[in-house]
Amino acid sequence: MRTNFLVIGSGISGLNFALHAAKKGRVLIVTKKKLIDSSTNYAQGGIAAVLDKTDDFKQHVKDTLETGAYHNNKKAVVFMIKNSAAAVHRLMDLGVEFAKENGQLKLTQEGGHHHRRIAYVGDYTGKEIERILVKRVKNNKNITIIEDAFALKLITTNKTCFGAQIIHKNKIQIILADQTIVATGGIGQLFEYTTNPPISTGDGIALGIEAGCKTKDLEFIQFHPTALEKNIYPRFLISETVRGEGAKLINSKGEYFMEKLHPLKDLAPRDIVAREIYSQMKNGPVFLDSSTKCTGHTKKFLQNRFPQIYKHLLKDGIKMEKNLIPVTPAAHYICGGIVTDLHGRTGIKNLFAFGEVTCTGVHGANRLASNSLLEALVFSNQIIKKLKKSVTKADTKIKSPKLLAKNSRQTKTALILKQEIKHLMWQYAGIIRKRSLIKQEAIPQMQKIITKLFQLSQNKTLTNQTLTETENMAKVGLLILQAANKRKKSLGCHFVQAI
Ligand SMILES: Cc1cc2nc3c(=O)[nH]c(=O)nc-3n(C[C@H](O)[C@H](O)[C@H](O)COP(=O)(O)OP(=O)(O)OC[C@H]3O[C@@H](n4cnc5c(N)ncnc54)[C@H](O)[C@@H]3O)c2cc1C
Repeated sequence: MRTNFLVIGSGISGLNFALHAAKKGRVLIVTKKKLIDSSTNYAQGGIAAVLDKTDDFKQHVKDTLETGAYHNNKKAVVFMIKNSAAAVHRLMDLGVEFAKENGQLKLTQEGGHHHRRIAYVGDYTGKEIERILVKRVKNNKNITIIEDAFALKLITTNKTCFGAQIIHKNKIQIILADQTIVATGGIGQLFEYTTNPPISTGDGIALGIEAGCKTKDLEFIQFHPTALEKNIYPRFLISETVRGEGAKLINSKGEYFMEKLHPLKDLAPRDIVAREIYSQMKNGPVFLDSSTKCTGHTKKFLQNRFPQIYKHLLKDGIKMEKNLIPVTPAAHYICGGIVTDLHGRTGIKNLFAFGEVTCTGVHGANRLASNSLLEALVFSNQIIKKLKKSVTKADTKIKSPKLLAKNSRQTKTALILKQEIKHLMWQYAGIIRKRSLIKQEAIPQMQKIITKLFQLSQNKTLTNQTLTETENMAKVGLLILQAANKRKKSLGCHFVQAI
């Protein structure tokens, strides 16, 4: 198969890029489950941008840098925020109907923001964005979509990318492309407790490393403070916008504990809130109080403003206007990834990356809430101006491994190892880290898992999706642990405790 643009992934970054690229050539989107299976489809809160006349571009930049512990690439931050309003307007032009009042966008607030600047669609902003983008790509004659197609390996020679090997319909296929785009999202599934969907297994970072890309800031994993405390996988998120509308965190003694802890109180940056909840949980459960008594909001308001969350909680007998919501932190977002420039270039010719898989530098050591949909959108809007067709000939002599059956012994063992990786990462690379344990226990354990996987694949001559995903998780997990071990002092969402 040949195409001009091979896009791997169908979240906001892949789909948005595909729509731009379709104006220049043939686009093929491959995605490992169905089109809508993505973190994008799970995003609740919204997308941050300078949209209000009383807001200030400089304040959004300041909030992003402050939350990112000034570890950010300021040039990338300024670039993203300068393009933020245009990016939201692009979504509106494509058909996304953000909440409005008297013809004006209604804006909400989340942690770390000093202004109401988040455009939203109820509490299902991502679902609506994904729905519109999917509709657009499906109607575009220049775009072909292959679902249930797993990107196994990028095809590269001499620091040039020629496409990818994929597993589709139980066969390994080769797709040659002038430009290959990695838009595979995050890594939440590396952790036992996460808000991320099952697709978030770090494949893109693993593909990038194998192709020779550089990675950066992998130790900065953001833990969302308020996932619903209930054994469902992934954990259901209670959006920060619930706190944006006045809800407060309360401990088992009935104290609103964030009041005295930070000037932004319950809307302090996520790392601070997540750590405080984690420490409060040692003395008992922590809840979110969205009751009418606490927020002043009626049942009707809460039902209309948070329809998805309201319905979900009601299934567990929790009424937002009356009852406390049990919450707990969960792995949510990776701030680092494949290093890219402002145009998604990776340093490997004809290979680009967008969205959560990248490290553009905008998030620094901690992502400001609702800046990720923005980053994915702004960066995947820019690239097309710089695209050129490849003139290099593809190397078609590519060895393919043999495919293992889904019920093979190797697959079953890989599934067990997946659970071990998740447990290990939660234990050692979680909210509070101890470097000595990362070095002495976690890294050697992960290396052992990698050796076992290598043996299972018989020196990478056997494979299938489960085995490769597990290998990717272990590989990326090891890099996260190594990066966490290298960073001696706490910074942003990397918090170390001496023992
Ligand atoms: C519960 C939740 C709530 C969130 N809320 C917000 C919010 O309110 N605001 C905000 O800004 N951000 C939010 N985020 C973060 C944001 O949703 C993500 O960072 C963003 O959607 C990532 O987009 P993406 O295009 O990079 O990746 P994704 O949307 O995750 O898409 C990745 C795609 O790649 C595919 N893929 C992965 N590996 C392979 C492979 N090997 N082969 C083929 N295909 C592959 C996947 O199937 C998927 O289609 C939230 C995230 C979660 C989980």
